[in-house]
Amino acid sequence: MAAGARVVLLGPPGAGKGTQAKLLQDRFAARQISTGDILRKAVAEQTPLGKQASEYIRRGELVPDRLIIDLVADRLKEKDCETGFVLDGFPRTIAQAQSLEEILKKTGLALDCVLSVQVPHKLIVERLSGRRTCKGCGALYHVVFDPPKAAGICNGCGGELFQRDDDREETISNRLRVYDNQTAPLASYYRERGLLREIDGVGEVEAIGKRVVRALG
Ligand code: AMP
Repeated sequence: MAAGARVVLLGPPGAGKGTQAKLLQDRFAARQISTGDILRKAVAEQTPLGKQASEYIRRGELVPDRLIIDLVADRLKEKDCETGFVLDGFPRTIAQAQSLEEILKKTGLALDCVLSVQVPHKLIVERLSGRRTCKGCGALYHVVFDPPKAAGICNGCGGELFQRDDDREETISNRLRVYDNQTAPLASYYRERGLLREIDGVGEVEAIGKRVVRALG
């Protein structure tokens, strides 16, 4: 992957998009933009956006396109995106994908690649229900597959680990349904544009990382 690359990570919740986006950010100068992280911060800070978004997130539904598209357009204008970006969790609908194309076109840019990370639904439920996030630095863990050294505490910063509300089992099935209905059609959308590359998202984080880097060529 060349510096300055513009990449979309596509895949169901729990496919490992966040983990791989962080690896790409560290390895290449491509800024991770996670719309989920931006929304959760807005909810925690009770901003007007956060107040509008919180109920959708809690139920595992998508936040309306009109709220998310302007947010991403503004974020992509920031200086740290000039050296490239990895979009993690956006676009999630065809309307969002079309808007992204328009946003980039205005600045004479285009996507380089859309990487689809494929993981069977059964494994996703296991991954999401055991996922824990650090309150301090956002590092990701899994209670079985990747536990912290001390239970409930981040190895890196010592922060407290928590379970996202929407990672509870009752919400996970709704998120997967929403993904199949609204987001999965993006694979054909990007395949038709010659941008789609698919990788197997099952296995160790490091092995998947190698597949990601290879696919980005
Ligand atoms: P994530 O962390 O990417 O799994 O996102 C968590 C939640 O934030 C999703 O279940 C949605 O409710 C909301 N969300 C994140 N990104 C988007 C998006 N691009 N469009 C609509 N809703 C989103």
